[in-house]
Amino acid sequence: MNILILGSGGREHALAWAIRQNPKCDRLIVAPGNAGIERIADCAAIDINSRADVLEFAEDNAIDFVVIGPEAPLAAGVSDALRAAGFLVFGPSQAAAQLEASKTFTKEICDACNAPTAAWARFTDPLGAREYVTKQGAPIVIKADGLAAGKGVTVAETIAQAHEAIDLIFQGEFGDTSVVIEEFMAGEEASFFILCDGTDCLPIGTAQDHKRVGEGDTGPNTGGMGAYSPAPVLTDALQQQVMDRIVRPTVAEMARKGMPFQGVLYAGLMIQDGQARLVEYNVRFGDPECQALMMRLGAQVLDLLLACAEERLGAAKVNWADDHAMTIVMAANGYPGSYEKGTVISGLDEIPETSFEMVFHAGTASDDGKVLATGGRVLACTGRGDSLAEAHERAYKLVDMIDWPQGFCRRDIGWRALPES
Ligand code: ATP
Repeated sequence: MNILILGSGGREHALAWAIRQNPKCDRLIVAPGNAGIERIADCAAIDINSRADVLEFAEDNAIDFVVIGPEAPLAAGVSDALRAAGFLVFGPSQAAAQLEASKTFTKEICDACNAPTAAWARFTDPLGAREYVTKQGAPIVIKADGLAAGKGVTVAETIAQAHEAIDLIFQGEFGDTSVVIEEFMAGEEASFFILCDGTDCLPIGTAQDHKRVGEGDTGPNTGGMGAYSPAPVLTDALQQQVMDRIVRPTVAEMARKGMPFQGVLYAGLMIQDGQARLVEYNVRFGDPECQALMMRLGAQVLDLLLACAEERLGAAKVNWADDHAMTIVMAANGYPGSYEKGTVISGLDEIPETSFEMVFHAGTASDDGKVLATGGRVLACTGRGDSLAEAHERAYKLVDMIDWPQGFCRRDIGWRALPES
């Protein structure tokens, strides 16, 4: 079959790498792609957030299956346009993508199905919000309601910080002027990925990521500096609990509302004392968690995504290996602040590409035989092994083979889960 993947990050490189290995895949096109992806697939420079452009491209290229990587085309309704034209699509509808795009929507769904999450309130005026915070006390969490690429959330340690965050939101800093205020949840965070076909659900792995730029989880938030799978904190019993109390009730409530969820549900969870509560939903794979997950799942990913899109998940199964994967993000010096673009990355030609070690490209472009860094997060060095320690060793070995003086990575990815050396 002819498959089109939308996106250009490490997540899409990992999806392309896994899908390409499945014999069902005849032709693979990734739009727009990057320097790593163009070595394994055709790349096409189209505007992936434009319904009309994606539809025209899919029609012109006899595409059989479209896999949507990032959230922006989902929020723009690209999946709806493709489905309406008869294409098979992996990715939720615009209506169902509200589970990520609107925090109020998700909180209302949780309330309707009794899914455990932080107590919350929503305000459209700064005065009401400030009064509520003063009454509740700190720590407390202040969130801009819409999508803000991780920048719209403040975990406020003091009431003054909370008031400041509220003022910023009402000054229009995040485009939206409504605020969701949440009870602070203590605990350990983990991510859980579940395929949903509107009715049935199939868990496909757990992971933990590192959001902060600095070692020891310090410094500003980023898109993610590294991840590993599985997440030891999400035991089988806890996964069962999350499926029973959070995921299945959510999927049933979405169907009841007439917006069945079809795609991957990425549940961000807070775990404390053997209990999991929902922090947030995303409606696509996490980046860089996806790189670790794809490394573990390999070629079967295409069969699973097809089963999801064709509403056959009830009969689908994951072939699990008892393995671990870790991915280390290499970012441009200065990220998540300003950074230089166009610097040259060397050493990539000597890198092995196997089912145990892969360097996925995130922000790269090729120029006259050279690979240039074009983004903040640039490469995801990924290792797989029988233990997390082995995956860790393989991933960092890849990092050390790359010659890119203008880049950096965290050296402590996986510190929570690795045995102390
Ligand atoms: P944005 O909307 O800006 O894109 P986001 O969707 O990533 O951000 P959340 O996942 O809701 O936002 O929050 C970001 C981080 O803030 C979480 O990963 C978690 O560490 C912390 N956080 C969010 N809500 C809570 C809470 N109620 N209690 C404790 N920590 C929280």
